[in-house]
Amino acid sequence: MRAHGGDDVRPGVGVRGRSRDDAPALRRAFLSLGSNLGERAAALRTARAALADLPGTTVVAASRIYETAPQDVTDQPSFLNQVVCLDTVLEPRELLAATQRIEAAAGRVRTVRFGPRTLDVDILLLEGVASDDPELTLPHPRLWQRAFVLVPLAELWQHARGMPTADVKAMAAELASSQDVSLYVAED
Ligand code: AMP
Repeated sequence: MRAHGGDDVRPGVGVRGRSRDDAPALRRAFLSLGSNLGERAAALRTARAALADLPGTTVVAASRIYETAPQDVTDQPSFLNQVVCLDTVLEPRELLAATQRIEAAAGRVRTVRFGPRTLDVDILLLEGVASDDPELTLPHPRLWQRAFVLVPLAELWQHARGMPTADVKAMAAELASSQDVSLYVAED
């Protein structure tokens, strides 16, 4: 795990708090939420509430919700996808553990890779942190390839802080021309 900008790093533990009094660093993060089983919109709503309840964590903004045709495993229901921007004092591994608890609480069972799931929560970007650890790769390894991530991320990109420099809006538009992503309209 390493930090952009020369922060001290303890391998395998995360990036050390940056403030002089050793208070935990507040980092901005972008997370993606996805669901294609059960009450999909409710699963995203519950996930947003659970993220807001994490210690030292505030939800800064949430994108609109998009509906996406499944990509890698195509014989499954369509997904709802959303991106959420957070500020958190949780260390990278703590945030990962928290997202996995939130997935488990939604009833997620890991079966087929890229297969159906009640809730998937991925950490896309974490301010000042880069990592090629397979347990927590940052930026997320598939972030730049997927319209269902980049289109909602582009909506929130004005909140980016300490993130890689990228023209996210242009990349999202490019991917959306070849991948099936549409704004989700809730059924009443
Ligand atoms: P998935 O089934 O797609 O949710 O992948 C979960 C696995 O990816 C877990 O074993 C995580 O440790 C690992 N992983 C690696 N990088 C990340 C990341 N940036 N966000 C979430 N999970 C990650």
